[in-house]
Amino acid sequence: MALIHNLGFPRIGAKRELKFAQEAFWKGQSSEAELLDLAKQLRAENWKTQSSLDLVPVGDFSLYDQVLDMSFTLGNLPARVDGLEGSELDNYFRVARGRSANDSGCNCVHAGEMTKWFDTNYHYIVPEVTSETTFSLNADRLLGQLAEARENGVNAKPVIIGPVTYLWLSKEKDGSNRLDLLPALLPVYSQLLEKLADAGAEWVQIDEPALVTELDSDWKHAFETAYHTLKANRPKLLLATYFGTLQENLQLACNLPVAGLHVDAVRAREEVTKVVDWLPPHKVLSVGVINGRNIWKTHLNGVLEWLNPVAEKLGDRLWLAPSCSLLHVPVDLGSEAKLDSDIRSWLAFARQKLAELSVLARAINDGYETVADELAANQAAIDSRARSERVHNPKVKEAVRSISPDLGQRKSPYGERAGKQHTHLNLPLYPTTTIGSFPQTQDIRKTRLAFKKQEISAGDYTAKMKAEIEHAVREQEKLGLDVLVHGEAERNDMVEYFGEQLEGYVFSQFGWVQSYGSRCVKPPILFGDISRPKAMTVDWIKYAQSLTNKPLKGMLTGPVTILNWSFVRDDQPRSESCLQLALAIRQEVQDLEAAGVNIIQIDEAALREGLPLRRLEWQSYLDWAVESFRITANGVRDETQIHTHMCYSEFNDIIESIAHMDADVITIETSRSDMELLDVFEEFEYPNEIGPGVYDIHSPNIPSVEQIVKLMKMAAERIPAQRLWVNPDCGLKTRQWPEVIPALDNMVAAARELREQS
Ligand code: GLN
Ligand code: ZN
Repeated sequence: MALIHNLGFPRIGAKRELKFAQEAFWKGQSSEAELLDLAKQLRAENWKTQSSLDLVPVGDFSLYDQVLDMSFTLGNLPARVDGLEGSELDNYFRVARGRSANDSGCNCVHAGEMTKWFDTNYHYIVPEVTSETTFSLNADRLLGQLAEARENGVNAKPVIIGPVTYLWLSKEKDGSNRLDLLPALLPVYSQLLEKLADAGAEWVQIDEPALVTELDSDWKHAFETAYHTLKANRPKLLLATYFGTLQENLQLACNLPVAGLHVDAVRAREEVTKVVDWLPPHKVLSVGVINGRNIWKTHLNGVLEWLNPVAEKLGDRLWLAPSCSLLHVPVDLGSEAKLDSDIRSWLAFARQKLAELSVLARAINDGYETVADELAANQAAIDSRARSERVHNPKVKEAVRSISPDLGQRKSPYGERAGKQHTHLNLPLYPTTTIGSFPQTQDIRKTRLAFKKQEISAGDYTAKMKAEIEHAVREQEKLGLDVLVHGEAERNDMVEYFGEQLEGYVFSQFGWVQSYGSRCVKPPILFGDISRPKAMTVDWIKYAQSLTNKPLKGMLTGPVTILNWSFVRDDQPRSESCLQLALAIRQEVQDLEAAGVNIIQIDEAALREGLPLRRLEWQSYLDWAVESFRITANGVRDETQIHTHMCYSEFNDIIESIAHMDADVITIETSRSDMELLDVFEEFEYPNEIGPGVYDIHSPNIPSVEQIVKLMKMAAERIPAQRLWVNPDCGLKTRQWPEVIPALDNMVAAARELREQS
């Protein structure tokens, strides 16, 4: 008999109930008791949804973040929240976001750093450690939820983050070695495991996704030490790995003294047989067969075909599960009444994925004939998607096949282009510009909503957006900026805006996925070959350019960013989808050029995020990602100036690829690092122009002229002034006009001062 279980369920609720409850609490509009009550309801609902499973995750629910939960469980809180008033929950939110409900003045602390959870778009709160860090157990949350689960009549399997991955995710605040904390950490894990056993947990899922990354010998050794210590404790441990292949860590993972191992059989399917061979005969193998990272139906017959021999070999030792926690997919396809019915029939969200799991288990345990109808319906959906003309567009496939190297090549090298561009554009030294967006005001949002609800006509909507564009242009002229933008008033989101106009994309209504805390994103669904039926931005940009004699920068989102912020196809490599996007955006670039736009910015905010977990795979990703950018950007005349923008500047390890993008100008976020992030550009002798951000747009603070001048002088120590631009760190859409005007005013004044001094 194969058992079925789940590694984690989305906690936000099918209608983002958690988000609204969190935000109401933070604003002081509801009480702690009300928030906790809603959380309890969500957990009960999630367990009910999962009640057909043999083992149900407990402790996967979180009021903010599961890593922060673990820090609380281990008693590892930053000293800055010691001794503050309020409840434990108040401190929890202080670490999460700097403040709790009704905090003011002295109760505000700086929030914990947030970073991406492996290669997902989920962000966790980085545990802070120093050589002085001590740990002490606080098991209340887990024990409380375990008791609740029992009341709900499910067979509970507590889920915790393992000690090695916990340290791997932590950051030393004092330059010490965080691995030195392992001996202090393990006794707390032992106590926790004993408490869970006392509370009746037979199995505990202990997540160690660090095992799918490249580990040096100290880290490998830490795994040995940790699990040889924890084997003395009573609950059976299911060591969970996910998000990738184990490779050189495979034998280590198989041989750690635990009762079971979970592997990601979607991303590491080719390793399953090896794992079966290596796994000691007393161990359970949990095979993650349903993709927890995308929204497509599983090809059940396909899985059964390869799974059958594994099931025969393992018998009762086989467990089946999604590849990873379902945190990374939306809750329920059942809510998507408006979604195109063909496309809907190809999809599975969290609830549907669990139903698939049940079908697989019944096929294996009770015989295929017991689920013949389900398998046939699944096969029909898979076939319909494989054959659909809406997915497969021979013209697009042909266009990708006939991409030749010259498509990614500018006509002349940067040195020659730069000369022509300078003559053509006639910009001063230290030209000033912005990154694209101006404030997305309440008014703009309301207008867009009214248009969506058909309360106002398309004509009224366009007129209103044009008025916003005109306002942005006039303000920029008044400020005296050198290169203007249209301000992006008409764009809800930098990816959705393009996705909505491209063939091959659909949008869900409730397909929300948690990004961090109460913030959820609704990734567009890239389902088919991508094409661009008509120009997407040209009318807006042309209109903006018609209002001014200053050069206006056309604004596009690049193919890699569109790809990385979407749910993508599983029936072709990501690189193929990216090239299709590149060809579509390239057409837009060429149309903008033909419409007289001399400067075009192609944002690649998410290029770095797409880097694979393993360094060995970085280069092949960078190769196709950069090639896609080049195809998008490089079909223009020498005189046309291509800009790109990235919201982070840690380019140390990928500078060569950044240079290979060959954008005439790159604008990046640098203000908070005192321009230190430019060092790598200096060392590499980066040849093209750079706009290092001179002020942080995340803060409402207005930068002074002196601050900006000082930063630019630091920049000029690293990059020749002739190749420097002056701009903010990123777009201004989240700011208010009364903050934007004085900040940019100072920025322009700083640029003038710099010119006078040189
Ligand atoms: N052009 C976009 C803007 O200004 C860029 C946003 C981003 O980099 N995330 O908003
Ligand atoms: Zn940015």
